[in-house]
Amino acid sequence: MIRKFTIDESVLNDDNNPAVSTVGVSNHHIHLCQADLEKLFGEGYQLHPKKPLTQPGQFAAEETLTVVGTKAMIEHVRILGPLRSETQVELSETEARLAGIEALLRDSGDLEGTKGCILMGPNGHLVLERGVICAATHLHLHTDEAAKLGIVDHQRVDIYIHSENKSGCLFDVPARVGELHAKDLHIDTDEANTFKITNNSKALILLNENKK
Ligand SMILES: [Zn+2]
Repeated sequence: MIRKFTIDESVLNDDNNPAVSTVGVSNHHIHLCQADLEKLFGEGYQLHPKKPLTQPGQFAAEETLTVVGTKAMIEHVRILGPLRSETQVELSETEARLAGIEALLRDSGDLEGTKGCILMGPNGHLVLERGVICAATHLHLHTDEAAKLGIVDHQRVDIYIHSENKSGCLFDVPARVGELHAKDLHIDTDEANTFKITNNSKALILLNENKK
């Protein structure tokens, strides 16, 4: 199949256009469950929010951990809140390879069959049996934003990314639609490097009527 299209780049300057999105780069990070938080930081410990993230209710915490693999360790990996039902470590493939950790390409929360690592905190360490992933690229959309574009939750969309020195397309990116989502394309640091992402980079959602 050959996909052929032309992009009108002037559209990218119109921030009110519902198909134009910001590009959010997800650096490596960790989501913790309550039990693991207490093992690593002590009983009854609570995270200290440092700054809010683009997705409503989510925050980067002051706290960081060291992720240990068979070849190297990655220090100062930030914890994101709020707590979740299961601990999840998100690394780029490049980092995972350097550290000697296997990170399967997965959607967030899909941890069946994933590998683990060792996490080190101020109160001790824990051996994580599973939960290390390389998070698959995804597009967050608020319900109202998705409705304007005719996109439903889990629908796959094509996306054109434009940076000053590099442009390109990502195909079949899943949309995450809901009241607690806000429009932002989430990519990891490997993809951000590929597309030379800066604060001025933009994403254009390419609507394809043949896709659901
Ligand atoms: Zn995300």
